[in-house]
Amino acid sequence: MTHETTRSPAVQQNAESLVNDQGGFPSQEQQPPGLTSQMDPLPDHGEESYVGHGRLEGMRALITGGDSGIGRAVAIAYAREGADVALSFLPEEADDAEETAEWVRKAGRKVVLLPGDLREQSTCQQVAADAVAGLGGLDILVNNAGFQMARTEKLEDLRAEDMDRVFKTNLYALFWLTQAVVPHLGKGSSVINVSSIQAYEPSQTLLDYASTKAAINNVTVNLAAQLGERGIRVNAVAPGPIWTPLQPATQDGERLESFGGDTPLGRAGQPSECAPAFVFLASPAEASYVSATVLGVTGGKPVF
Ligand code: NAD
Ligand code: MG
Repeated sequence: MTHETTRSPAVQQNAESLVNDQGGFPSQEQQPPGLTSQMDPLPDHGEESYVGHGRLEGMRALITGGDSGIGRAVAIAYAREGADVALSFLPEEADDAEETAEWVRKAGRKVVLLPGDLREQSTCQQVAADAVAGLGGLDILVNNAGFQMARTEKLEDLRAEDMDRVFKTNLYALFWLTQAVVPHLGKGSSVINVSSIQAYEPSQTLLDYASTKAAINNVTVNLAAQLGERGIRVNAVAPGPIWTPLQPATQDGERLESFGGDTPLGRAGQPSECAPAFVFLASPAEASYVSATVLGVTGGKPVF
């Protein structure tokens, strides 16, 4: 199989050809968590473009939400950089997970599939243990699983069960999983959390979600301080608007018509455009002195 480089003009052209005149997409909706096959157009995860250069040779990564979207793009890139990967996902996303797994196998790397709902602490512990057992250890944890739901109600109408889903998926699971994985990480390992432009520029419709992303930035800095003496780096990636199943599954379909149009680059990003940031942060050679940082992949919106 031949691949073009990740940063080639062809890839950018491909990303631009996936958007409409307003920078967005056709109106569409799905039920959460959303599936890749039902998206129009299909996202670009780097399947035909990502070229590895051995940056993660022999490493082992657990990627939550690794079935689709940003997680799938990271899985493909990590595998092509020489890493074996474990993918955690919700049971109803098994088809998406199998497709991602197939790309990892095609790259000649091992893949471990770990369905389960990370809102339960016991599942987080099981997923961590199964990833360690399946890959023979771990060097990289990507806390990528996340949930949002755009809400137009007033603050007073926010329901406890809705907030529970957002806070447990985005924050509790991150704490529990990191707690379970860290004892297995050695010097040169790293944890990469997934923040958001919402941590800096919160949408009124994402009151609860945006607050979890601000908290993730805070946890990233604090954990980097705590784990530094063990030689473990902790960083975050803050994506802007990215074309993934999360988007048609969690908001009014018509909003997608202008999705990403308000960025300086004037369009949404593709999952493939996020993956190189995760490769850099995980690379022990390239990011050996990088910890407690948040790397924005936002189409030009500031992350400070
Ligand atoms: P996605 O839907 O492809 O990925 C999210 C994944 O989270 C799902 O595939 C699912 O496997 C996982 N997940 C959700 N609830 C879970 C649960 N209870 N248990 C286990 N797994 C669960 O969408 P994505 O956009 O690639 O999202 C990945 C991350 O990127 C999320 O943290 C999201 O908040 C963040 N993010 C996305 C955007 C964007 O515009 N797409 C922007 C900023 C940040
Ligand atoms: Mg998914």
